[in-house]
Amino acid sequence: MPVHGLPPYDPQNIFARILRGEIPCKKVFEDDFAFAFHDINPQAPTHVLVVPKGAYCSFADFSATASEVEIAGFIRAVGKIAKDLGLEAAGYRLLANMGEHSGQEVPHFHVHLFAGRPLGRMIPG
Ligand code: AMP
Repeated sequence: MPVHGLPPYDPQNIFARILRGEIPCKKVFEDDFAFAFHDINPQAPTHVLVVPKGAYCSFADFSATASEVEIAGFIRAVGKIAKDLGLEAAGYRLLANMGEHSGQEVPHFHVHLFAGRPLGRMIPG
């Protein structure tokens, strides 16, 4: 049964293939819960993608069906990555697209981590 009206998880999506090591990436971090790498088309001086290790197609899927341990592990990893990259002093932005209106392109839940310059308005107006 699809979660929240989305198609079922597609194990051939590009981030699943990166997680399996089938396609290269510029890796930033890995632990039991999360994997992080540089976005191929960066929108800021630092643009890192953080994905959970588990097969979740979106934030809706992850927040509803991942275990508490996976959710806590993932969120802690996002914070650690930002800290270890030295982004806390100047600040950073997290963003997760979910579904059609957000423009989500890759159907494996991911958080964008942007930093390295003033990031402007949250949503271009
Ligand atoms: P979204 O629109 O939130 O699904 O974001 C997908 C992001 O994945 C975009 O910012 C793309 O530039 C990025 N992306 C797509 N393919 C790759 C790849 N092979 N390696 C790194 N980033 C990628």
